[in-house]
Amino acid sequence: TLSNSKVAERNKERSLIMIKPNGVQRGLVGEVIKRFEQKGFKLVAMKFTQASEEHMKTHYKDLEKLKFYPGLCKYMSSNPVVPMVWEGLGVVKTGRVMLGETDPAKSLPGTIRGDFSVHIGRNLVHGSDSVESAKKEIALWFKDDEVVTYTAGNNEWIYE
Ligand code: UDP
Ligand code: MG
Repeated sequence: TLSNSKVAERNKERSLIMIKPNGVQRGLVGEVIKRFEQKGFKLVAMKFTQASEEHMKTHYKDLEKLKFYPGLCKYMSSNPVVPMVWEGLGVVKTGRVMLGETDPAKSLPGTIRGDFSVHIGRNLVHGSDSVESAKKEIALWFKDDEVVTYTAGNNEWIYE
């Protein structure tokens, strides 16, 4: 069995979850935050910002060969976004489940994209797709001291 410290370490996985420009414009910032809070994940960083196109090109670098990449980066830098870091056991994978599929048409009701979006290019939220890419994305959006280490008061009621 794993030591207590190993278990506690697992609970510290982090994911970059970002509300896209249309999520901000449609007044869904609170809704997205609410779902991650209610799930039991812990908010450790957040900002409200309009990113440059260059910044978005770096964020989506892995997709640079795809035809939608220029339009995606232009759109993502056209209006404010809300990047956040959420922490918790399995938050990368579970966060993606909470978001739904990339294509909202394939996203089930109960997911954020399934409940609130229709078009793949306007799917409301970004979520890191692996622990590795989460680390890169968090470093891109936040300075070290902008990610806050603290004990959540509900910790003992979320984890065994
Ligand atoms: N996207 C798009 N057209 C496509 C595929 C993706 O406009 O055919 C957009 C979509 O908004 C998506 C983003 O590009 O969220 C990044 O694509 P990725 O495959 O990484 O999807 P995600 O990880 O966001 O589900
Ligand atoms: Mg992706």
